[in-house]
Amino acid sequence: MGHDHHHDHDHDDVALRVQALEALLVERGYLATDAVDKLAEAYEHDVGPMNGARVVARAWSDPAYRARLLEDGSKAIGEFGYGGFEGGHVVVAENTDEVHNVVVCTLCSCYPWSVLGLPPTWYKDPAYRARVVVEPRTVIAEFGLDVPAAKAIRVWDSSAEVRYMVLPQRPAGTDGMTEAELADLVTRDSMIGVAMPLEPARA
Ligand code: FE
Repeated sequence: MGHDHHHDHDHDDVALRVQALEALLVERGYLATDAVDKLAEAYEHDVGPMNGARVVARAWSDPAYRARLLEDGSKAIGEFGYGGFEGGHVVVAENTDEVHNVVVCTLCSCYPWSVLGLPPTWYKDPAYRARVVVEPRTVIAEFGLDVPAAKAIRVWDSSAEVRYMVLPQRPAGTDGMTEAELADLVTRDSMIGVAMPLEPARA
C-alpha cells in the first residue's frame, strides 16, 4: 500500500524535459512562447475539463449511468472513450445534501487528467495541499464557496493509483435541459470540489 508516486515522478521528468526543450526552441527562434501558451490553454480549457463535464451531465441525466459511474469510475468514464493514460484508477465521489467532497494530492499533484486535463497551478501549491486536509471548510470558503455547517466535508487524497473526481449536485432549475446544456454548467473547480456548478441562466 502507500502513496506510490512513480508515475508522477515520470510526469515531472517529462515536464522538465519539455520545459528545457521549449526554452531551447524559443531561444533559437523556432517557437513563439505564446504558441506554447495557447496549446497549454487549449488543453486546459477545451480538451480537459469538458470531458469531465460531459461525464457529469450524463450522470445527472441518466440514473443508470450515474450508478455505473459511482460503482466503477474508470470504466464508466471509458464509455466516452476517455482515459487511462494517467495510469491510475478514477474514483468518483458524489456530493449530496449531507456530504461535500473535495480532492487534493497531499504529496504532489496526482489528478484525473483524462477527465479534467492539466491541474490548475493552485492544485499543486503546497499551501492548498497542506491546508485543505486540515481546514477544508476554510480553504473552500477562500475559493468563494461556503459549505453549510450542517454538511460534512470529505477530503480525498489522490495518488498515482487512485485519482478522484467530484460529482457535483445538479443545480436547481435545470429540469428539461439537454446533456449538452447541462455540461456547460459544469466547471473544472466544481469537479475538484472548490466550487458549485454554474446556475442556469435566468430567462
Ligand atoms: Fe500525487
